[in-house]
Amino acid sequence: MWVNWWGGQQCRPRRTDRPLDEAGVVAAVRRAAERGLTVRPLGSGRSDSTLTLTNDVHVDCSALTGVAAITSDTVRARAGATLASVQAALAPRGRALAPVAHAPLATVAGAIATGTHGGGAGIGSLSDQVVGMRFVDGTGRVRKAGENGDVGELDAVRTGLGALGVVTEVELRTVPATEVEAHEEPVVAEEALAVDGPLDAHRFAAVELHLPSGEALLRWAGPVVDREPEAVPGGPVEALGRVVTRLGHTASAQWSAQRSRPAPRWEGVVTGPPHELLPDPHPVRGGFTEWALPREALADAIRALGAATTARDQEIRRPVEVRTGPAETGWLHPAHGRATAWITVRTHRGDDHGPLFRLVGSVLEGMGGRPHWGGRHDWTAADVAVAYPALPDFLAVRDRLDPDRLFNGDHLEALLGP
Ligand SMILES: Cc1cc2nc3c(=O)[nH]c(=O)nc-3n(C[C@H](O)[C@H](O)[C@H](O)COP(=O)(O)OP(=O)(O)OC[C@H]3O[C@@H](n4cnc5c(N)ncnc54)[C@H](O)[C@@H]3O)c2cc1C
Repeated sequence: MWVNWWGGQQCRPRRTDRPLDEAGVVAAVRRAAERGLTVRPLGSGRSDSTLTLTNDVHVDCSALTGVAAITSDTVRARAGATLASVQAALAPRGRALAPVAHAPLATVAGAIATGTHGGGAGIGSLSDQVVGMRFVDGTGRVRKAGENGDVGELDAVRTGLGALGVVTEVELRTVPATEVEAHEEPVVAEEALAVDGPLDAHRFAAVELHLPSGEALLRWAGPVVDREPEAVPGGPVEALGRVVTRLGHTASAQWSAQRSRPAPRWEGVVTGPPHELLPDPHPVRGGFTEWALPREALADAIRALGAATTARDQEIRRPVEVRTGPAETGWLHPAHGRATAWITVRTHRGDDHGPLFRLVGSVLEGMGGRPHWGGRHDWTAADVAVAYPALPDFLAVRDRLDPDRLFNGDHLEALLGP
């Protein structure tokens, strides 16, 4: 029995292959094809959708680890390298991956396949950083996307849902590694969510919300400011309390425990590399649903979500997180073609998340929302066809790369059609 990281999804694959190299992936794919079995590629199982489920063959890519090459502005990482391990390999070279998700243990290929994002209004997702990719298609052939200027294929595979092949290696753009200073402050929700407000102003920014009370906490990070203690607003006494510290996260693991109210993570202002400071330090195991909305719909969407959950007596027991991101080119990326506001609703293990997530989905899709492919949602091919103008292009690439639908699973078939 395979279960995802928190136990909310499970399946019983007939076989699990855990290749150590690309040749092993080719062999696994060809063997499945010869036996008439389907294949689902697997990363570190951080997704909460049913995309990874299969009763046939799992090709578990978690042993395809390591970084193959670092150039002045790219990194070539094997598919199963975790985001944290890639950041660690880049740091001594003064480089970094720009996006910072809360999932440092997601694999590079898994994160790209679902469009994993994290940062601020100006930072594209992991998919957006892809400049090249090697993968094994449904016929068992090794392919390279990003060569010969075939941008179209790259825009298909950069958010491929594991539908086009088993990725073995990814080349990603990097940025100069810089330290940031991170802040937290209570804010007025309406002001924090407004277009051109703090979510759009800072390099990294997120707002945590408690919908019933309207309580909101802004967490943001930007360039380190070299300030004299006296220069800090509020004078020396407050300055002492805000002294820049490397202490990191507060000792309170309880900040993320059974709470629905936003709570600070840090003592004062903290500085450090974004990928060390910003990911949720104590992710609670449980389900999540996340929706990508047109940026300008954010404030209305949060109001509608608050009204709907109150009217239906549905309690959101963990803070709702809101982030923003730029428009993406990935044909099936949830931020395709539009600046995006991301709304995440999480539950605890043991919560009956079904009714709540259905309600959240029905409110947010009504406002132009598209689901994060790694989260819970009940979208079908009809929904995808309406929301994704480039779907026909994606399906044409799929016909070419996986003509016999080796990578089909129930979820994928429901989403993309046969
Ligand atoms: C604690 C936590 C925090 C998170 N924070 C964020 C966040 O900040 N932002 C965000 O956007 N998401 C976030 N997520 C979601 C997460 O980043 C995605 O679900 C991501 O896809 C998980 O990667 P994975 O390696 O676990 O992939 P899996 O869950 O194993 O697989 C996901 C998809 O990738 C495909 N896949 C995996 N490996 C390959 C491969 N080698 N070739 C082709 N396809 C492949 C699978 O078939 C599947 O479709 C978070 C999840 C958790 C649990």
